[in-house]
Amino acid sequence: MGKITAEGNVEAINYEGFQLTRLDTVIGAARSNSLWPLPFATSCCGIEYMASMAPNYDIARFGMERMSFSPRQADLLIVAGTISKKLAPVLRQVYEQMSEPKWVLSVGACASSGGIFDTYSVLQGIDRVIPVDVYVPGCPPRPEQIIDGIMNIQALVKHESLRRRYSPEYKDLLDNYNIENDIDGK
Ligand code: SF4
Repeated sequence: MGKITAEGNVEAINYEGFQLTRLDTVIGAARSNSLWPLPFATSCCGIEYMASMAPNYDIARFGMERMSFSPRQADLLIVAGTISKKLAPVLRQVYEQMSEPKWVLSVGACASSGGIFDTYSVLQGIDRVIPVDVYVPGCPPRPEQIIDGIMNIQALVKHESLRRRYSPEYKDLLDNYNIENDIDGK
């Protein structure tokens, strides 16, 4: 048998003259290195997120610095800051407008749990209205933590099966949120 090696991000079996790998692996590697983030920043955590784009942290080193402010051209929703209950339907609409496959990063205590604002007006975590893939702790998290969160998203994306979005488990997840799955046209 051939040798199993890692070529960049792609695990493959190499023989002289050709390389054998799986479609899942190639597409996972391509997707994980070309995420287009949509920043949904509402308060102080948003400022930390902006710092992660500045030259000293330089999120562009991943080659995916192209922020998208249109949900239709984004596949990573980054929610940074306090989300009021009034704003929750807007956040959900933005999520729904993004095409599959899509991922969500919750940055900071407010987005993840309401943070210190245990009040009538603040949503106690965005996972009450949309599914979240990775949570970044902190109030505020440092840019290094935000970048770590993005790298965790990349690891998820890289290893996600192409079939996951069609699976009954994924459909159940969306059903729990009353979100229509646009993949199977329902
Ligand atoms: S977690 Fe802290 S820093 Fe982030 S938005 Fe809330 S109060 Fe501001």
